Amino acid sequence: MLVTRGLRGDDRGRHATTRRQLLLLPTGAAVIDTPGMRELGLAAADLHSSFADIEALAAQCRFRDCTHTAEPGCAVRQAIAQGLLDEDRLESLTKLQREMAFAQRKGTMTAAQRERQKTVDMVGSLDALHKWQKTNRKK
Ligand SMILES: [Zn+2]
Repeated sequence: MLVTRGLRGDDRGRHATTRRQLLLLPTGAAVIDTPGMRELGLAAADLHSSFADIEALAAQCRFRDCTHTAEPGCAVRQAIAQGLLDEDRLESLTKLQREMAFAQRKGTMTAAQRERQKTVDMVGSLDALHKWQKTNRKK
């Protein structure tokens, strides 16, 4: 499933180069493809609206910088334990946040490096990527 959303308002006339893609993988993971640094703000706004339920829960976590992994008093983990929140959604959000943090950090990376990192994020790890590449080479 490939969901492509164009930009709103004043960016409408700029066509493909300003498009972002939110790629949802069968595993439930999501990869956001941002063509340029200036779009990170918009992507962040999208995250906030797409995961408003998790953000509302996160506001009730005991720690403001809660990563919703193993912290005590985590409202997000509590909601998952109670079946109120799908853990896959939390994982998707975490992956997207990691992808965006990565893009902000590595604004100077080459395109090839970015593509590689994107693939690593998609398959989960560098190990998995190597296995995947081996498997494909045999074909
Ligand atoms: Zn939390």
